[in-house]
Amino acid sequence: MSKVISRQQVLERGSKYMYDVIVIGAGPGGMTAALYASRADLKVLVLERGIYGGQMQNTAEVENFPGAGLITGPELSEKMYQDSTNFGAEHGYGYVTNVEDHGDYKTVITEDTSYDTKVVIIATGAEHRKLDIPGEEEYAGRGVSYCAVCDGAFFRNQPLVVVGGGDSAVEEGIYLSQLAESVTIIHRRDELRCQKVVAGRAFNNEKINFLWNKVVEEIEGDDQKVRTLKLKDTKTGEISTLETGGVFIYIGVIPITEAFSSLDILDGEGWVVTNEKMETSVPGIYAVGDVRQTVLRQITTAVGDGSIAGLEAYKYIESLK
Ligand code: FAD
Repeated sequence: MSKVISRQQVLERGSKYMYDVIVIGAGPGGMTAALYASRADLKVLVLERGIYGGQMQNTAEVENFPGAGLITGPELSEKMYQDSTNFGAEHGYGYVTNVEDHGDYKTVITEDTSYDTKVVIIATGAEHRKLDIPGEEEYAGRGVSYCAVCDGAFFRNQPLVVVGGGDSAVEEGIYLSQLAESVTIIHRRDELRCQKVVAGRAFNNEKINFLWNKVVEEIEGDDQKVRTLKLKDTKTGEISTLETGGVFIYIGVIPITEAFSSLDILDGEGWVVTNEKMETSVPGIYAVGDVRQTVLRQITTAVGDGSIAGLEAYKYIESLK
């Protein structure tokens, strides 16, 4: 049965309430960890700063999660959320700002309150990398976007640009092509980094064209919205401009780990370092999914990590007895 606790209940419980496991982040990794830990009869709270689903909420279509067929990201989020609560795990709002290690127990600190718990599972994922160029911040929400599924509909029948050459860039470009007049994918190299099947679909799509060996140097507009992009050729240095109604940026991700910087569990780029049991160097603190230093960041890998961490949490708590 679903056990969703209100923000008020979360606040009232505060640090007096000792959990077995607190999962930070309700993406696929965190929700799976909660499912496995609660199924092992542990008392579990999932703290999420936004809506459950994580990056899946910003994904138009998922077609590589076995058993789900072709499914939208929000639909898969909903299904995982329901399953994650089936064995009693609670979900609550919480923006975690710090985690303290006190040996046998940890304190999870949010903007509002704090909780004591035996185990912490970090599942805070990753967020989009920015281009860091003039105009990007100024026109964010006015033609600059990082989420085709959220904003695509505002750009119907307009010429759009996608920046990037990986899976997310090309898949979201294909999604945008259904709404847009045309989609130009701008990539700094001369070949895509995405899976061949995805690339093939983009190459066969009449609405999609490519600009190779180009980087966006500046996003220009008329103070209301984006109008043109200033481009630079990475081989010749030649500068050109391109008119567009909107630019969607998919150039990779960075870890969300500010809250854990005091724990000494991060690598030089901020990813959490774990072993194959998802253990960090601090006993009782685990990490799963995109936030980990790993070779593949997908829903399937986050789910796999979550199941391991959920069961390892159980073994760790048994060892404390
Ligand atoms: P996330 O999904 O990133 O979830 C982390 C959660 O933690 C978020 O909800 C966040 O709000 C929360 N959080 C962060 N910090 C805090 C904090 N301090 N306190 C509380 N909560 C916090 N993968 C596929 O397998 N197939 C695809 O087709 C696919 N398409 C994609 C398309 C796009 C556009 C994007 C962006 C990603 C796509 N991915 C796809 C990748 C996939 O979505 C991620 O690998 C996966 O969601 C990672 O799961 P996660 O649980 O590790 O983290």
